[in-house]
Amino acid sequence: MDAATITAPAVLILLGPPGAGKGTQARMLEDKFGLVQLSTGDLLRGAVAAGTEAGKAAKAVMEAGDLVSDGIVTAILRDRMAETDCAKGVILDGFPRTTVQAEALDGLLASTDQKINAAISLEVDDTEMVTRISGRYTCAGCGEGYHDTYKQPAEDGKCDKCGHTEFTRRADDNAETVASRLSAYHAQTAPLIDYYQAQGVLKGIDAMGQIDDIARDLQALVGDIMD
Ligand code: AMP
Repeated sequence: MDAATITAPAVLILLGPPGAGKGTQARMLEDKFGLVQLSTGDLLRGAVAAGTEAGKAAKAVMEAGDLVSDGIVTAILRDRMAETDCAKGVILDGFPRTTVQAEALDGLLASTDQKINAAISLEVDDTEMVTRISGRYTCAGCGEGYHDTYKQPAEDGKCDKCGHTEFTRRADDNAETVASRLSAYHAQTAPLIDYYQAQGVLKGIDAMGQIDDIARDLQALVGDIMD
């Protein structure tokens, strides 16, 4: 199925620990299905860079690898979802991360007559996550993601998508912060797997393989869900 056949705004959630590939896969789904990727991590990094009140409150928390308060994150997400492009449907990447956020999302969707089509869990082992996270970097021009081991630009130092030659690495992609982020995931986010199982919308994908193989399985699943 493709973007032209989607009739109602879809709401997809990607669940999974840091490094599972949520951002990479969300961008691919965005391209294929015409949905909008909403990454609360990106929105928060934008707020930090812009020096907003929310950004000032979030900065140190993010650097420590802890979760930003539910109030701040939910407000940022709610404002972004109210923008017109989100009427095409959204892929939530990195939200919700706590039960409080999941309940807030349920309330927000109910008030706008939307529902969750699927919460897709990207299933991976923790041991692999540290390697994945510590090698990743992003094009400073268009945000395309790369990895020292798994995904390098075809031409060394030049983004495949936009041709830009500058790249950035996230401040929180270091070994100590990764450990905190993984424990935050297990303590606060993993319980959402049961939460969405109980709602009957949980799906799982084996996300341990190559990016393109995972993308193929995930896109087939999303095609079926939205059929
Ligand atoms: P991410 O880009 O999804 O890995 O998020 C980077 C950091 O932003 C996380 O380690 C948290 O500090 C913060 N963050 C992103 N999304 C959320 C969320 N839904 N709830 C709380 N903190 C978040």
